[in-house]
Amino acid sequence: MSIQIGILGAGVLGRVLALRLDSLGCNVTLFDENRSDGAGSSSYVAAGMLAPYCELETADNLIFDLGVASLELWPKILQEFETPPFFRRRGSLVVTHTEDLPDLELLRKKVAKKVGGQNGFQDVSAVSIFALEPEIDRKISNGIFFKNEGHISSRDFLVASAVEFHRRKIQCFFETCATASQSGKISCSAGDFQFDHVIDCRGIRARADMTSLRAIRGELIRVYAPDVHLGRPVRLIHPRYPLYIVPLPNKQFVIGATQIESDDLGPITVQSTLELLTAAFSVLPGFAEARIAETSVGLRPAFPTHSPRVQIRNRLLRVNGLYRHGFLIAPKLSEIIGDFILNEKGSLNEFSD
Ligand SMILES: Cc1cc2nc3c(=O)[nH]c(=O)nc-3n(C[C@H](O)[C@H](O)[C@H](O)COP(=O)(O)OP(=O)(O)OC[C@H]3O[C@@H](n4cnc5c(N)ncnc54)[C@H](O)[C@@H]3O)c2cc1C
Repeated sequence: MSIQIGILGAGVLGRVLALRLDSLGCNVTLFDENRSDGAGSSSYVAAGMLAPYCELETADNLIFDLGVASLELWPKILQEFETPPFFRRRGSLVVTHTEDLPDLELLRKKVAKKVGGQNGFQDVSAVSIFALEPEIDRKISNGIFFKNEGHISSRDFLVASAVEFHRRKIQCFFETCATASQSGKISCSAGDFQFDHVIDCRGIRARADMTSLRAIRGELIRVYAPDVHLGRPVRLIHPRYPLYIVPLPNKQFVIGATQIESDDLGPITVQSTLELLTAAFSVLPGFAEARIAETSVGLRPAFPTHSPRVQIRNRLLRVNGLYRHGFLIAPKLSEIIGDFILNEKGSLNEFSD
């Protein structure tokens, strides 16, 4: 008989885990208090950058390794989908204004130290920036091109994964608030369900059960800009207004994101709006005519190390702290957890608290 798995929380982690465990032959049931489109989760807000090299600016080697492996796994996961979400792998471009060149050099050194030499990235000058992205402000003449990076539409993925769950007959209880116990039981308004293993992926909502899990507020702005063309995500290195611009289908662009130590889910502030839009406009002047389609706020679940953790209590496994890397690392993290549950293969030591 197949192993019965209950997953509490259908953000990107709960969903990728559900797909992985289903493909390994487990009988998976998913519970989430929000709708099937994921609205209300941190994953719904995410910009969807898959940028392990760029993230080396602040992230550690574990995130890099999980991210590089996940970049290879995403196409394999998505090729199974009947309607795959938007996913691109055209690299990403990091640029800076001349006065901030030392910060760009710092990133270059960090990446070079990690990957050795110029592996996976190249310095770009005004001519090559123009060749890659002709609409970037001509005053910007320094950058690094990370050719292996990618991006995914987070919302497309949330919608497409719900369709996949239906197609694969993975039982889902959406709009259902639930609790999990160490004995492997999940309880909700639909009843009590007993599983061989329960995986708690509640993101920031698991704060009461995971010591030192905290929220980092992120604000971003979605604009509609029919006249702007961008082939890949662009990041601006800036001491006060670091920024990324992510192109999505239908001429939508995500401009983000702030990082604020707060669990306030209230609307975006005036200051953040001004800073994000001013910085974005300094990179892509074509945004002058863009329409603001939406402002969003999400809470990134983070531990002090900014790396994910796994906590095992009998039949209950809590996985959390994906911080700003949920889409970046979920595929490899899910593979590791799947191997551990099914084969007791490998160890979760590097994620233990
Ligand atoms: C502004 C912003 C930009 C970001 N950009 C990126 C990016 O470019 N790339 C990247 O990789 N990451 C990015 N992230 C980070 C990413 O969004 C998170 O790391 C990721 O969403 C965490 O996923 P999760 O599944 O752990 O949690 P969540 O996505 O928060 O999912 C948790 C789920 O649990 C459910 N839940 C909670 N309690 C219960 C309960 N009792 N019963 C049932 N269901 C429950 C919630 O409804 C929710 O759906 C960004 C985050 C923010 C805020």
